[in-house]
This record gives sequence, structure tokens and C-alpha cells, in this order.
Amino acid sequence: MALHRIFRAVVTGPPGSGKGTVSSRITKTFGLKHISSGDILRANINARTELGLLMKSCIDQGQLIPDDVMSRLILSDLRATDQSSWLLDGFPRTVTQAEALDDTCSVDTVINLNVPFQTIKQRLTSRWTHLSSGRVYNIDFNPPKVPGLDDVTGEPLVQRDDDTPETVTHRLKAYETQTEPVLEYYRSKGVLQTFSGTETNKIWPLVEAFLHRKLQLVNQKVA
Ligand code: AMP
Repeated sequence: MALHRIFRAVVTGPPGSGKGTVSSRITKTFGLKHISSGDILRANINARTELGLLMKSCIDQGQLIPDDVMSRLILSDLRATDQSSWLLDGFPRTVTQAEALDDTCSVDTVINLNVPFQTIKQRLTSRWTHLSSGRVYNIDFNPPKVPGLDDVTGEPLVQRDDDTPETVTHRLKAYETQTEPVLEYYRSKGVLQTFSGTETNKIWPLVEAFLHRKLQLVNQKVA
């Protein structure tokens, strides 16, 4: 669907709720620019900057990056894409970040993926990645053809350092205490839309239908 005016959305949810997958499908279907805080952080880490090393130690312990560092990183990206429609994936994760985002621009809709913690624990600890392509496998429901190897290149798969059971527990705790209040923040602004379920493939059609309706309305208002 072609967009006739700038449209800005946020995807939120616990770690492992399918934010990355849903965000890629949204950006492909609706042509928004995908801005993923996790990907931006991992790019900094791969560049081996001093800040990157500090970030890696936070991430590996399942802690959030400090708000001022995170907001500076993401908001400078957003200012650079001033006139485009975008989808933010993984930011804001605290009320302070949400307020900083509000000071820079307004958000049209917030898509909240509500997936039970038990499902997430199982999902994250069985997730394996091919580092150079970003291809993700799950040993329970999307295994590689040969265990431990990427289907396309045959190269070894790795587990993200922050997907170990202990770190996953810390990440879920950080979500409960720091990110859940962000839901209330957006609910009170009337822009929160929650989608519940245990399978991304069942949640996705609901998100897609919702966005189709929403964008039709946005386009009608402009016409
Ligand atoms: P993700 O790939 O979105 O699960 O992010 C991986 C890790 O990066 C998280 O567990 C946090 O440690 C860190 N991170 C990502 N986004 C943020 C954010 N908005 N604020 C603070 N830390 C973040």
C-alpha cells in the first residue's frame, strides 16, 4: 500500500516476542524504514569501538543500555531520516526513552506483541544464528537441515551471547521492571494496540490487517 503521508510506528514486546520478524514483514509489506535498536547496537559492537565494548558487556549480562546513550544513538538516526515513514523496533524500552522520543517526533501507533514468558524462554534458548547473513533458526520448529550449520552457506551457527538461559532470565526481568511501564505510557496516549499469542505466524496476519485498516484511514484523511 502506498503511503500518502508520513507514518511512524513502534513495535514493542518482551525479548524474543518476534519483534524482529514482525518488523521485517511490516517494513516489506508497507514500505517503512526499519530502525532496530538491537541491530544498531550490534553494528557498534562489531566495529569494536570503546563504546561498543561497554555496550557488549551490558547486553551479555541482560541489562539495558543507559537511557542517555541509547536515546542519543537512536534519535540522531531519526533526525537524519526527517521526512520518511519509519518503524522503530526495540526502542523505546523505558519511559525516559519514550519521553525523549516524544520530544523529537510523534508516534502514530505502537504495536505490542504480548507473548507468554514461558514460550519466550523456550524460544530464545533454542535460537541459533548465522552471523554474517543474520539468518535465524530455531531447533524446535525451524531447524537447519544439518544440525549446527547454515542451510545456504554450510557455515557454523552460533547462539547469541545473550540467549543463554541465565541472561534470558535477566532480560525478562529488565523487561518487566523497565519496559512494561512504557505500555501504560502509550495506552494513556491512545496509540497502543496489543496482539496476543504464542506463534508469530498467527500474530502476523492480525498485525497486517490492523495496519492495512490504519493506513487506509491515514490515506483517506489526506485525500
Ligand atoms: P534486541 O535485539 O532488541 O533484543 O536487543 C538486544 C539487547 O540490546 C537488549 O537485551 C538490551 O541489552 C540492548 N538494547 C536494545 N534496545 C535497547 C534500548 N532501547 N534500550 C536499552 N537497551 C537496549
